Amino acid sequence: MGTLVLDNVQKRFGEIEVLHGVSLDVKDGEFIALVGPSGCGKSTLLRLIAGLDSVSGGRIEVDGKVMNEVAPKDRDVAMVFQSYALYPHMTVRDNMAFSLQMARAPKAEIEKSVRLAADILGLEPYLDRKPRELSGGQMQRVAMGRAIVRNPEIFLFDEPLSNLDAKLRGKVRKEIQALHRRLGTTTIYVTHDQVEAMTLANRLVVMNGGHVEQIGTPLELFDKPATEFVAGFIGAPP
Ligand code: ADP
Ligand code: MG
Repeated sequence: MGTLVLDNVQKRFGEIEVLHGVSLDVKDGEFIALVGPSGCGKSTLLRLIAGLDSVSGGRIEVDGKVMNEVAPKDRDVAMVFQSYALYPHMTVRDNMAFSLQMARAPKAEIEKSVRLAADILGLEPYLDRKPRELSGGQMQRVAMGRAIVRNPEIFLFDEPLSNLDAKLRGKVRKEIQALHRRLGTTTIYVTHDQVEAMTLANRLVVMNGGHVEQIGTPLELFDKPATEFVAGFIGAPP
């Protein structure tokens, strides 16, 4: 199962509040796109869900368990970063195996998981390479592979296509779609590109300045935008 509940989640950095109480209910297997302009708090919210930063108020639940005090490694959540954040000195294989090695998984299980992820992402030919010997698209796939091997209940993607050129962007987007179809893992996908969001997601969460403007299916947002901001955002060219 991969259900996620955000209940009035707040985040302050010092005196400044950047999330003003975000609430959201995500069902198992849903693909949610989190959209909104740069600086509205999307990455901050993902980091809170992943446990990389702690909430200033409110509650985060995964599968009914309150996560507020749970360490990142003990959350059934895997995050794919915009910058890939690969370990430069490790091979592709070791990058993907690392979190399982840290968790002291049996060697055979690690090999099996890495093989499966490499197969899903077409990375078999590159397993012995270092990140610097890979293209941007390949590095992005390794970053996804690292998330897949953990077999999480929830995937968090932070603008995974933003460092790719336009042609590759379409290709990797289709791969993310195929991945979701194949594994059915609950996904929270951050993007500032509303077209990307409309194509991928079951539902969109439109954020603006640290709060949620509207949550709905692509059709609902298109047909009945709740605010002028939503209308402008959904209608705007990418
Ligand atoms: P987005 O991902 O939507 O572009 P972010 O979540 O990165 O937005 O940032 C939201 C706001 O929080 C921004 O104003 C940003 O400057 C601020 N912020 C993010 N991280 C920190 C931090 N560690 N310390 C202080 N301010 C931060
Ligand atoms: Mg961001």
